Amino acid sequence: MSISENLKFFKNELPEKVSLVAVSKTKPLENLQEAYTFGQRIFGENKIQEMTEKWQLLPKDIEWHMIGHVQTNKVKYMAPYVSLIHGVDRLKVWSEIHKQGLKNDRIIPCLLQVHIADEETKFGFSADEIKEIITHNTLLEFPNAKVVGLMGMASNSNDQDKVRAEFKGLRKLFDSANEMGCNFELLSMGMSGDYTIGIEEGSNMVRVGSKIFGNRNY
Ligand SMILES: *Cc1c(COP(=O)(O)O)cnc(C)c1O
Repeated sequence: MSISENLKFFKNELPEKVSLVAVSKTKPLENLQEAYTFGQRIFGENKIQEMTEKWQLLPKDIEWHMIGHVQTNKVKYMAPYVSLIHGVDRLKVWSEIHKQGLKNDRIIPCLLQVHIADEETKFGFSADEIKEIITHNTLLEFPNAKVVGLMGMASNSNDQDKVRAEFKGLRKLFDSANEMGCNFELLSMGMSGDYTIGIEEGSNMVRVGSKIFGNRNY
């Protein structure tokens, strides 16, 4: 299947309220260009340097989403143009995004990453930490790194019930946050292997790489 055929599949497959982030990390410019020509405008990358190089070379109406773990000292390179940072997983990086937002005279939309998998390797705040952030009004401290929702990665597991339970937990947290007065709009959950479960559990943004661009060779 070609990239445009895959995108066509997702266009038909995804409910209208679900945004598709085409995860193009490690993929060459021609692949992104093909997706762009087909009409895709949201691309996800996990390395700031790679994303910035692609941003410089591709059309300027693309929305660039940083989906990876962010190193504080590199935030400045994406601050002028990034459309959404999914992986805000600690206060230090959140405050740096705010600082760079101020410097660039922008409000940078962010998602707080929540640790929902039972794997040590996935980053993020715990559900309790998110609730503390809300009750302590930390959201008001970084207005130029504006939190517009939550993101989570489920365990890399074939156990669908486990994945579903993890997504359900994140959805519950998302709803509680909004009941506590947050105006969160985006719930980013689901990738190539688990996006259907993500959507069934309330996701409105999926991050799909290999099912669009093919497997990655690192
Ligand atoms: C790589 C990556 C994806 C996409 O993974 P696929 O399995 O190729 O769809 C989604 N989210 C994050 C955070 C990633 O790092």
